[in-house]
Amino acid sequence: MALQCVVESAAGAALLLIDAFTYIHNYGRPDLFITFTCNSTWPEITCELIPGQKATDRHNLIARMFKIKVQKLAALLTKGEIFGETQCFMYSIEWQKRGLPHVHLLLWLKQKSRPNQIDIISAEIPNANIAQQLHDTVVKNMIHGLCGALNMSSPCMKDRKCTKKYPCPLLKETQTNQNGYPLYRHRAPEDGGHTTTLTICGKPENFIVDSKWVVPYSPLLNKIFNAHINVEFCSSVQAIKYICKYINKGSNQAVFNMTHANHANLDPRDEI
Ligand SMILES: [Zn+2]
Repeated sequence: MALQCVVESAAGAALLLIDAFTYIHNYGRPDLFITFTCNSTWPEITCELIPGQKATDRHNLIARMFKIKVQKLAALLTKGEIFGETQCFMYSIEWQKRGLPHVHLLLWLKQKSRPNQIDIISAEIPNANIAQQLHDTVVKNMIHGLCGALNMSSPCMKDRKCTKKYPCPLLKETQTNQNGYPLYRHRAPEDGGHTTTLTICGKPENFIVDSKWVVPYSPLLNKIFNAHINVEFCSSVQAIKYICKYINKGSNQAVFNMTHANHANLDPRDEI
């Protein structure tokens, strides 16, 4: 049976980091880093909304449904062994201020995967004529928001550069770079890759998008969950450090005070 460590609040984040290092000490580097984001258009959510209601009005519904989906994902990874027999896994669920919940999950496999064996991960637009459902879910969920010269106001842009390093270089085959991060295969159309047409919110024109904008994903998981599920190979100490920082960064916090309406201008205390 696979060991399991779960953190669903900021208070447990420090414990998670200790657990991550304990797991790394005992089982070596994790094999896969999975980020799974709730899809507010899942029919299980939309069918429960009353007329005029949006999914974002029903945090209870989103939280319950996402928890069920995360449990299903964990069962597929451990009991279903979709990436092979597992040793252990750990995950942390986060809520963004106005966004949807997402989970970061680290998975340790019994048979260690290697960068040249990572064909379980794809970073390309599927062929719509062969796999229409997968094509649609990848185009909807796994394309990095167009940025750079196409859209300088994208939230990922800092100092006129994409902080997530998109668009990726077009590559005929997956490679491992010097830091151990894999460079996934993103084939150009002339090498057998595929394209799709997208629009940017607020811009009238259409853009032809190729695979250099695709976030790495597992075709099987994307078909099952129809959601944003980023699957990355963990290959180096740098990658593990990045992941530990990521899963340990804790939740966003807000500080506020409450003042009686009649005393709002009279109360001198403003320490908070
Ligand atoms: Zn970007």
